[in-house]
Amino acid sequence: MSLANTYARYPVEFVSGEGAWLTDAKGERYLDFLSGIAVNNLGHCHPRVVAAVQEQVGRLMHVSNLFYTEPNVRLAERLSARSFGERVFFCNSGAEANEAAIKLVRKHRPRGDVIVALNAFHGRTYGALSATPQEAKQAPFAPLVPGFRAIEAADIPAAVDADTAAVLIEPIQGESGVNVMSAELLASIRAACDAVGAALVFDEVQTGMGRTGSLWAYEQLGVEPDAMTLAKGLGGGLPIGALVIGPELADVFVPGDHGSTFAGGPVVSAAANVALDVIDDEAFLTQVRDSGERLAEKLRELPFVASVRGRGLMVAAEVTTEAPALATRALTEQRLIINATGATTLRFLPPLIVSAEEIDDAVDRLKKLDI
Ligand code: PLP
Repeated sequence: MSLANTYARYPVEFVSGEGAWLTDAKGERYLDFLSGIAVNNLGHCHPRVVAAVQEQVGRLMHVSNLFYTEPNVRLAERLSARSFGERVFFCNSGAEANEAAIKLVRKHRPRGDVIVALNAFHGRTYGALSATPQEAKQAPFAPLVPGFRAIEAADIPAAVDADTAAVLIEPIQGESGVNVMSAELLASIRAACDAVGAALVFDEVQTGMGRTGSLWAYEQLGVEPDAMTLAKGLGGGLPIGALVIGPELADVFVPGDHGSTFAGGPVVSAAANVALDVIDDEAFLTQVRDSGERLAEKLRELPFVASVRGRGLMVAAEVTTEAPALATRALTEQRLIINATGATTLRFLPPLIVSAEEIDDAVDRLKKLDI
């Protein structure tokens, strides 16, 4: 096997996908409640995404950011219009979006600290990793980028001071197990940042693009950031990231400050425009919230589920058994794709287009594990 040994992969090879379903090389069908880790929000191979990509890929694939393309300019305008944003920097992944955010806030307050929450996950590149205070992920790669302070989320408001460039925080922590930050806490972080002129940056890489039942998670929390990072669901399955920058920081970056050759190319931008067409629709988002409630309710009925938490279709269940083993059994015995984010935490990130029948089917598959 020539692949780098960086993932504990399951012994399954997928060859095709449609909606909430994947098919492996042997022709077996799997119900996907992970969505490529919150990427396939529209399900696999959504026909409108496929059509837009096919059309664009045959017309123009890449020109670099020395030039404009219509799909990319349109996407920037739409992301700004549908958020607090004024300008958008494009990149190719969540980690890169956070790298851009870190550079932005450092330039805004030179040599300032970036405060992050304990258990946060912001990515694997050096800046993003330095913002990810998890011993196992950071320790082998020391020394890290200086200037990050990891604080218990509840203590962040008191920690913000005149040396703080920004607070970078996930409104709902994803990789550490769907930990929802309260509206009150985020409001007091906002106030603390305002008091000293520090920036507030929301990492919506996982929570964005309808995942929580609103286009952006912050809309349900009543707190607006100065910038937010996006990736995962943004491209309807293709890799694109973005840093949306609000008015306060809109003029911080000038030509030469930051860049990326592939970023925001016309193909991924065309895909993202379609993803926005589908997701940024009140009926669609209402459906996400309803589906999330149905999933949570059904999960609560399982005998091995102690509690359920989350927003929309970003859901975690605390279980009374070993979660990683349970996720493996769900895959191998029931062909249900879920994942474990901790010893006793299961995470469910189905495509947002999942049907009520598919939700019931997924929970039935868990029931059949007979735990
Ligand atoms: N930020 C959050 C909240 C994430 O969940 C992730 C990935 O899981 C990242 C950043 C990193 O994104 P990527 O893997 O695209 O670099």
